[in-house]
Amino acid sequence: MNTQTDQAVAILEKLVGFDTTSRDSNMPLIDWVADYLDGLGIASVKVTDATGRKANLVATIGEGDGGVVLSGHTDVVPVDGQDWHTDPFALTRKGERLFGRGSSDMKGFIACALAAAPKLLESKLARPVHFAFSYDEEVGCLGVGGIIDRFGIDGQKPAICLVGEPTMMKVVNAQKGCGVYETVLTGKEVHSSQTDRGVNTVIYGAELVNFIAGIAEERKQDPDPLFDPPYTTVNVGLMQGGTAFNIVPNSTRILWEYRNVPGDDGSDIRPRVDAFVAERLLPRMQAVYPDASVVTTELANIPGLAPEQDGPAETLIKRLAQQNATEAVSYGTEGGLFQEAGMSTVICGPGDIGVAHQPNEFVDIEQISLCMDMMDRLADHLQT
Ligand SMILES: [Zn+2]
Repeated sequence: MNTQTDQAVAILEKLVGFDTTSRDSNMPLIDWVADYLDGLGIASVKVTDATGRKANLVATIGEGDGGVVLSGHTDVVPVDGQDWHTDPFALTRKGERLFGRGSSDMKGFIACALAAAPKLLESKLARPVHFAFSYDEEVGCLGVGGIIDRFGIDGQKPAICLVGEPTMMKVVNAQKGCGVYETVLTGKEVHSSQTDRGVNTVIYGAELVNFIAGIAEERKQDPDPLFDPPYTTVNVGLMQGGTAFNIVPNSTRILWEYRNVPGDDGSDIRPRVDAFVAERLLPRMQAVYPDASVVTTELANIPGLAPEQDGPAETLIKRLAQQNATEAVSYGTEGGLFQEAGMSTVICGPGDIGVAHQPNEFVDIEQISLCMDMMDRLADHLQT
Protein backbone atom coordinates (compact mmCIF):
# COMPACT_ATOMS: atom_id res chain seq x y z
CA MET A 1 0.00 0.00 0.00
CA ASN A 2 1.41 3.38 -0.89
CA THR A 3 1.33 6.32 1.49
CA GLN A 4 -1.49 8.09 -0.35
CA THR A 5 -3.75 5.09 0.10
CA ASP A 6 -2.68 4.89 3.76
CA GLN A 7 -3.64 8.51 4.14
CA ALA A 8 -7.04 7.93 2.51
CA VAL A 9 -7.71 4.97 4.80
CA ALA A 10 -6.76 7.03 7.85
CA ILE A 11 -9.16 9.77 6.78
CA LEU A 12 -11.87 7.20 6.04
CA GLU A 13 -11.47 5.91 9.58
CA LYS A 14 -12.18 9.42 10.88
CA LEU A 15 -15.18 9.94 8.58
CA VAL A 16 -16.80 6.58 9.40
CA GLY A 17 -16.35 7.42 13.10
CA PHE A 18 -18.92 10.21 12.78
CA ASP A 19 -22.46 8.82 12.84
CA THR A 20 -23.97 10.91 10.05
CA THR A 21 -27.25 9.03 9.65
CA SER A 22 -29.43 11.44 7.63
CA ARG A 23 -31.87 12.11 10.48
CA ASP A 24 -29.02 13.44 12.66
CA SER A 25 -26.60 16.34 12.39
CA ASN A 26 -23.56 15.96 10.14
CA MET A 27 -21.85 18.98 11.73
CA PRO A 28 -19.12 17.12 13.66
CA LEU A 29 -17.95 15.55 10.39
CA ILE A 30 -18.18 18.83 8.49
CA ASP A 31 -16.21 20.61 11.23
CA TRP A 32 -13.53 17.93 11.13
CA VAL A 33 -13.20 18.19 7.35
CA ALA A 34 -13.07 22.00 7.54
CA ASP A 35 -10.29 21.79 10.16
CA TYR A 36 -8.36 19.28 8.06
CA LEU A 37 -8.55 21.55 5.00
CA ASP A 38 -7.72 24.60 7.11
CA GLY A 39 -4.58 22.78 8.29
CA LEU A 40 -3.52 22.59 4.64
CA GLY A 41 -4.34 26.26 4.11
CA ILE A 42 -7.51 25.53 2.11
CA ALA A 43 -10.50 27.72 2.96
CA SER A 44 -13.92 26.09 2.96
CA VAL A 45 -17.49 27.33 3.18
CA LYS A 46 -20.23 25.67 5.18
CA VAL A 47 -23.65 26.05 3.60
CA THR A 48 -26.07 25.20 6.40
CA ASP A 49 -29.68 24.09 6.23
CA ALA A 50 -32.50 26.19 7.71
CA THR A 51 -32.06 24.65 11.16
CA GLY A 52 -28.27 25.02 11.29
CA ARG A 53 -27.99 21.33 12.24
CA LYS A 54 -26.63 20.20 8.89
CA ALA A 55 -24.29 21.64 6.33
CA ASN A 56 -22.73 21.16 2.96
CA LEU A 57 -19.03 21.88 2.71
CA VAL A 58 -17.58 23.54 -0.37
CA ALA A 59 -13.88 24.16 -0.90
CA THR A 60 -11.87 25.10 -3.95
CA ILE A 61 -8.25 24.40 -4.78
CA GLY A 62 -7.03 26.67 -7.58
CA GLU A 63 -9.20 29.26 -9.25
CA GLY A 64 -11.13 30.15 -12.36
CA ASP A 65 -13.87 28.67 -14.49
CA GLY A 66 -13.83 25.26 -16.11
CA GLY A 67 -12.92 23.31 -13.00
CA VAL A 68 -13.81 19.82 -11.85
CA VAL A 69 -16.26 19.20 -9.00
CA LEU A 70 -15.62 16.19 -6.78
CA SER A 71 -19.05 15.49 -5.34
CA GLY A 72 -19.92 13.27 -2.40
CA HIS A 73 -22.63 13.05 0.22
CA THR A 74 -21.66 12.91 3.89
CA ASP A 75 -24.85 11.33 5.19
CA VAL A 76 -25.45 7.59 5.52
CA VAL A 77 -28.51 5.36 5.82
CA PRO A 78 -29.54 4.03 9.25
CA VAL A 79 -28.13 0.82 10.75
CA ASP A 80 -31.30 0.21 12.81
CA GLY A 81 -32.24 -3.44 12.99
CA GLN A 82 -29.34 -4.58 10.83
CA ASP A 83 -27.11 -7.47 11.84
CA TRP A 84 -23.66 -5.88 11.99
CA HIS A 85 -20.71 -8.02 13.06
CA THR A 86 -18.57 -4.98 13.86
CA ASP A 87 -19.32 -1.49 15.19
CA PRO A 88 -20.75 0.23 12.08
CA PHE A 89 -19.24 3.55 13.18
CA ALA A 90 -15.71 2.23 13.74
CA LEU A 91 -13.84 1.39 10.55
CA THR A 92 -12.70 -2.21 10.99
CA ARG A 93 -10.11 -3.86 8.82
CA LYS A 94 -10.37 -7.57 8.06
CA GLY A 95 -7.76 -8.67 5.57
CA GLU A 96 -7.94 -6.30 2.60
CA ARG A 97 -11.44 -5.13 3.43
CA LEU A 98 -12.62 -2.14 5.47
CA PHE A 99 -15.99 -2.49 7.17
CA GLY A 100 -18.17 0.38 8.35
CA ARG A 101 -21.33 2.32 7.49
CA GLY A 102 -20.52 4.61 4.60
CA SER A 103 -17.21 2.89 3.78
CA SER A 104 -18.52 2.40 0.29
CA ASP A 105 -21.54 4.77 0.14
CA MET A 106 -19.77 7.12 0.08
CA LYS A 107 -17.21 8.24 2.58
CA GLY A 108 -14.56 6.22 0.74
CA PHE A 109 -14.63 8.68 -2.16
CA ILE A 110 -14.65 11.71 0.15
CA ALA A 111 -11.62 10.28 1.98
CA CYS A 112 -9.79 9.88 -1.34
CA ALA A 113 -10.60 13.46 -2.39
CA LEU A 114 -9.35 14.78 0.95
CA ALA A 115 -6.23 12.63 0.82
CA ALA A 116 -5.50 14.06 -2.62
CA ALA A 117 -5.73 17.67 -1.37
CA PRO A 118 -2.01 18.09 -0.59
CA LYS A 119 -1.02 16.92 -4.07
CA LEU A 120 -3.72 19.06 -5.73
CA LEU A 121 -2.35 22.05 -3.81
CA GLU A 122 1.24 21.43 -4.88
CA SER A 123 0.23 20.90 -8.47
CA LYS A 124 -0.44 24.57 -9.26
CA LEU A 125 -3.63 23.72 -11.09
CA ALA A 126 -4.49 25.57 -14.28
CA ARG A 127 -8.16 24.84 -13.58
CA PRO A 128 -9.60 24.36 -10.09
CA VAL A 129 -10.89 21.35 -8.21
CA HIS A 130 -14.01 21.94 -6.11
CA PHE A 131 -14.91 19.71 -3.18
CA ALA A 132 -18.69 19.52 -2.86
CA PHE A 133 -19.74 17.49 0.17
CA SER A 134 -23.48 17.47 0.82
CA TYR A 135 -25.98 16.45 3.50
CA ASP A 136 -29.34 14.67 3.12
CA GLU A 137 -28.60 12.84 -0.12
CA GLU A 138 -30.02 9.59 1.21
CA VAL A 139 -33.37 11.18 1.97
CA GLY A 140 -33.96 12.63 -1.50
CA CYS A 141 -30.93 14.73 -2.55
CA LEU A 142 -32.22 17.60 -0.42
CA GLY A 143 -28.95 19.29 0.52
CA VAL A 144 -26.92 19.53 -2.66
CA GLY A 145 -28.96 22.41 -4.11
CA GLY A 146 -27.15 24.72 -1.67
CA ILE A 147 -23.84 23.74 -3.28
CA ILE A 148 -25.05 24.09 -6.85
CA ASP A 149 -26.43 27.59 -6.12
CA ARG A 150 -23.11 28.52 -4.54
CA PHE A 151 -21.18 27.93 -7.76
CA GLY A 152 -23.35 30.62 -9.30
CA ILE A 153 -22.69 33.06 -6.43
CA ASP A 154 -18.91 32.63 -6.41
CA GLY A 155 -18.72 33.17 -10.13
CA GLN A 156 -16.52 30.13 -10.63
CA LYS A 157 -18.31 27.93 -13.10
CA PRO A 158 -17.13 24.33 -13.00
CA ALA A 159 -17.26 22.47 -16.32
CA ILE A 160 -17.24 18.91 -15.06
CA CYS A 161 -18.71 17.06 -12.12
CA LEU A 162 -17.52 13.69 -10.87
CA VAL A 163 -19.94 12.08 -8.44
CA GLY A 164 -17.99 9.47 -6.47
CA GLU A 165 -20.81 7.06 -5.66
CA PRO A 166 -19.64 3.45 -5.54
CA THR A 167 -19.28 2.02 -9.06
CA MET A 168 -16.24 -0.24 -8.52
CA MET A 169 -14.35 2.57 -10.30
CA LYS A 170 -16.30 2.01 -13.52
CA VAL A 171 -17.56 5.07 -15.36
CA VAL A 172 -21.33 5.48 -15.19
CA ASN A 173 -22.86 7.98 -17.62
CA ALA A 174 -26.57 7.23 -17.28
CA GLN A 175 -28.92 6.71 -14.41
CA LYS A 176 -32.61 6.71 -13.74
CA GLY A 177 -34.31 9.66 -12.10
CA CYS A 178 -36.97 9.26 -9.48
CA GLY A 179 -40.11 10.78 -8.04
CA VAL A 180 -41.32 9.83 -4.56
CA TYR A 181 -44.84 10.56 -3.33
CA GLU A 182 -47.05 10.13 -0.30
CA THR A 183 -50.80 9.88 -0.77
CA VAL A 184 -53.05 10.12 2.29
CA LEU A 185 -56.72 9.19 2.00
CA THR A 186 -59.09 10.44 4.67
CA GLY A 187 -62.55 8.88 4.88
CA LYS A 188 -65.21 8.14 7.46
CA GLU A 189 -64.92 5.57 10.22
CA VAL A 190 -68.04 3.55 11.06
CA HIS A 191 -68.93 0.11 12.40
CA SER A 192 -68.30 -2.50 9.74
CA SER A 193 -71.97 -3.52 9.79
CA GLN A 194 -72.78 -0.09 8.29
CA THR A 195 -70.41 0.12 5.37
CA ASP A 196 -72.91 2.22 3.44
CA ARG A 197 -72.39 5.10 5.89
CA GLY A 198 -68.62 5.04 5.93
CA VAL A 199 -65.86 5.86 3.48
CA ASN A 200 -63.42 2.99 3.45
CA THR A 201 -59.98 4.39 2.68
CA VAL A 202 -58.34 0.98 2.40
CA ILE A 203 -60.70 0.00 -0.41
CA TYR A 204 -60.35 3.36 -2.21
CA GLY A 205 -56.61 3.15 -1.58
CA ALA A 206 -56.56 -0.29 -3.18
CA GLU A 207 -58.19 1.18 -6.30
CA LEU A 208 -55.48 3.82 -6.40
CA VAL A 209 -52.74 1.21 -5.94
CA ASN A 210 -54.27 -0.78 -8.76
CA PHE A 211 -54.26 2.30 -11.00
CA ILE A 212 -50.59 2.92 -10.19
CA ALA A 213 -49.85 -0.73 -10.93
CA GLY A 214 -51.45 -0.22 -14.34
CA ILE A 215 -49.05 2.64 -15.08
CA ALA A 216 -46.19 0.34 -14.06
CA GLU A 217 -47.36 -2.27 -16.57
CA GLU A 218 -47.62 0.30 -19.38
CA ARG A 219 -44.08 1.49 -18.85
CA LYS A 220 -42.74 -2.00 -19.59
CA GLN A 221 -43.78 -1.50 -23.23
CA ASP A 222 -41.22 1.26 -23.66
CA PRO A 223 -37.76 -0.29 -23.32
CA ASP A 224 -34.43 1.51 -22.93
CA PRO A 225 -31.80 -1.21 -23.33
CA LEU A 226 -29.20 0.78 -21.36
CA PHE A 227 -30.91 -0.15 -18.11
CA ASP A 228 -31.76 -3.22 -16.09
CA PRO A 229 -34.72 -3.45 -15.93
CA PRO A 230 -34.93 -1.64 -19.29
CA TYR A 231 -37.89 0.64 -18.52
CA THR A 232 -39.28 3.15 -16.03
CA THR A 233 -40.32 1.27 -12.91
CA VAL A 234 -43.28 2.31 -10.76
CA ASN A 235 -43.62 0.92 -7.25
CA VAL A 236 -45.96 1.11 -4.30
CA GLY A 237 -43.72 0.55 -1.28
CA LEU A 238 -46.09 1.02 1.63
CA MET A 239 -49.81 0.99 2.24
CA GLN A 240 -50.95 1.53 5.76
CA GLY A 241 -54.52 1.84 6.97
CA GLY A 242 -57.17 0.46 9.26
CA THR A 243 -57.26 -0.84 12.81
CA ALA A 244 -59.58 -3.87 12.99
CA PHE A 245 -61.71 -6.15 10.80
CA ASN A 246 -64.91 -4.63 12.09
CA ILE A 247 -64.11 -0.95 11.63
CA VAL A 248 -64.38 0.87 8.29
CA PRO A 249 -60.97 2.56 8.13
CA ASN A 250 -60.87 6.35 7.90
CA SER A 251 -57.24 6.84 7.05
CA THR A 252 -54.83 5.18 4.66
CA ARG A 253 -51.31 6.21 3.73
CA ILE A 254 -49.60 5.08 0.55
CA LEU A 255 -45.94 5.65 -0.36
CA TRP A 256 -45.15 5.22 -4.03
CA GLU A 257 -42.40 6.12 -6.44
CA TYR A 258 -41.22 5.87 -10.01
CA ARG A 259 -37.69 5.56 -11.35
CA ASN A 260 -37.59 6.88 -14.86
CA VAL A 261 -35.17 6.16 -17.67
CA PRO A 262 -33.64 9.37 -19.16
CA GLY A 263 -35.89 9.24 -22.26
CA ASP A 264 -39.01 9.29 -20.07
CA ASP A 265 -39.18 12.16 -17.61
CA GLY A 266 -42.10 10.56 -15.82
CA SER A 267 -43.80 13.95 -15.64
CA ASP A 268 -47.17 12.54 -16.70
CA ILE A 269 -47.38 10.08 -13.81
CA ARG A 270 -48.30 12.39 -10.93
CA PRO A 271 -50.94 14.30 -13.00
CA ARG A 272 -52.52 11.01 -14.06
CA VAL A 273 -52.71 9.89 -10.44
CA ASP A 274 -54.23 13.25 -9.49
CA ALA A 275 -56.77 12.99 -12.31
CA PHE A 276 -57.74 9.45 -11.29
CA VAL A 277 -58.29 10.65 -7.74
CA ALA A 278 -60.31 13.70 -8.82
CA GLU A 279 -62.48 11.88 -11.35
CA ARG A 280 -62.83 8.36 -10.02
CA LEU A 281 -62.31 8.38 -6.25
CA LEU A 282 -63.18 11.71 -4.67
CA PRO A 283 -66.72 12.11 -6.12
CA ARG A 284 -67.73 8.73 -4.71
CA MET A 285 -66.00 9.34 -1.38
CA GLN A 286 -67.48 12.82 -0.94
CA ALA A 287 -70.97 11.72 -1.92
CA VAL A 288 -71.03 9.83 1.40
CA TYR A 289 -68.82 12.14 3.44
CA PRO A 290 -68.16 15.66 2.10
CA ASP A 291 -64.97 16.07 4.16
CA ALA A 292 -63.32 13.02 2.59
CA SER A 293 -60.01 13.90 0.97
CA VAL A 294 -57.04 12.48 -0.90
CA VAL A 295 -53.84 14.47 -0.60
CA THR A 296 -50.66 13.65 -2.51
CA THR A 297 -47.34 15.20 -1.50
CA GLU A 298 -44.11 15.02 -3.46
CA LEU A 299 -41.33 13.84 -1.15
CA ALA A 300 -38.51 13.87 -3.69
CA ASN A 301 -37.98 14.47 -7.36
CA ILE A 302 -34.51 13.75 -8.64
CA PRO A 303 -33.62 14.04 -12.31
CA GLY A 304 -31.86 11.14 -13.98
CA LEU A 305 -28.46 11.39 -15.58
CA ALA A 306 -28.69 11.47 -19.36
CA PRO A 307 -25.72 10.05 -21.24
CA GLU A 308 -23.73 12.76 -23.04
CA GLN A 309 -22.30 11.35 -26.23
CA ASP A 310 -18.52 11.90 -25.94
CA GLY A 311 -19.16 14.56 -23.31
CA PRO A 312 -16.24 16.22 -21.48
CA ALA A 313 -16.86 14.41 -18.17
CA GLU A 314 -17.07 11.00 -19.78
CA THR A 315 -13.97 11.57 -21.89
CA LEU A 316 -11.91 12.84 -18.97
CA ILE A 317 -12.97 10.35 -16.31
CA LYS A 318 -12.61 7.36 -18.64
CA ARG A 319 -9.03 8.43 -19.16
CA LEU A 320 -8.33 9.09 -15.49
CA ALA A 321 -9.97 5.88 -14.29
CA GLN A 322 -8.43 3.92 -17.18
CA GLN A 323 -11.77 2.60 -18.36
CA ASN A 324 -12.83 2.06 -21.97
CA ALA A 325 -16.51 1.54 -21.42
CA THR A 326 -19.39 3.27 -19.70
CA GLU A 327 -22.33 1.79 -17.82
CA ALA A 328 -25.82 2.76 -16.78
CA VAL A 329 -27.24 2.26 -13.30
CA SER A 330 -30.76 2.26 -11.91
CA TYR A 331 -30.05 3.83 -8.52
CA GLY A 332 -30.26 7.57 -7.94
CA THR A 333 -27.48 10.07 -7.20
CA GLU A 334 -26.98 13.83 -7.15
CA GLY A 335 -25.48 13.58 -10.65
CA GLY A 336 -28.62 14.61 -12.53
CA LEU A 337 -28.82 17.83 -10.49
CA PHE A 338 -25.28 18.85 -11.43
CA GLN A 339 -26.00 17.99 -15.05
CA GLU A 340 -29.19 20.07 -14.94
CA ALA A 341 -27.09 22.99 -13.66
CA GLY A 342 -24.96 22.79 -16.79
CA MET A 343 -22.04 20.62 -15.72
CA SER A 344 -20.97 17.64 -17.75
CA THR A 345 -21.38 14.81 -15.23
CA VAL A 346 -20.45 11.18 -14.69
CA ILE A 347 -20.35 8.85 -11.70
CA CYS A 348 -17.23 6.92 -10.73
CA GLY A 349 -16.11 5.91 -7.27
CA PRO A 350 -14.66 3.20 -5.05
CA GLY A 351 -16.72 0.37 -3.61
CA ASP A 352 -19.71 -1.68 -4.59
CA ILE A 353 -23.27 -0.35 -4.58
CA GLY A 354 -24.30 -3.95 -3.86
CA VAL A 355 -23.04 -3.64 -0.26
CA ALA A 356 -24.33 -0.09 0.27
CA HIS A 357 -27.25 0.28 2.68
CA GLN A 358 -26.57 -3.29 3.89
CA PRO A 359 -25.25 -4.55 7.21
CA ASN A 360 -21.49 -5.14 7.12
CA GLU A 361 -20.97 -2.62 4.31
CA PHE A 362 -17.33 -2.61 3.24
CA VAL A 363 -14.87 -1.22 0.75
CA ASP A 364 -11.83 -3.09 -0.53
CA ILE A 365 -8.53 -1.30 0.07
CA GLU A 366 -7.73 -1.95 -3.58
CA GLN A 367 -10.70 0.23 -4.54
CA ILE A 368 -9.35 3.08 -2.41
CA SER A 369 -5.98 2.60 -4.06
CA LEU A 370 -7.50 2.72 -7.56
CA CYS A 371 -9.39 5.88 -6.64
CA MET A 372 -6.17 7.50 -5.38
CA ASP A 373 -4.56 6.64 -8.72
CA MET A 374 -7.43 8.47 -10.42
CA MET A 375 -6.93 11.48 -8.11
CA ASP A 376 -3.22 11.51 -8.99
CA ARG A 377 -3.97 11.56 -12.69
CA LEU A 378 -6.54 14.29 -12.13
CA ALA A 379 -3.92 16.50 -10.47
CA ASP A 380 -1.53 15.87 -13.36
CA HIS A 381 -4.22 16.51 -15.94
CA LEU A 382 -5.29 19.84 -14.45
CA GLN A 383 -1.75 21.20 -14.38
CA THR A 384 -1.78 21.60 -18.11
ZN1 LIG B 1 -24.73 7.24 -1.94
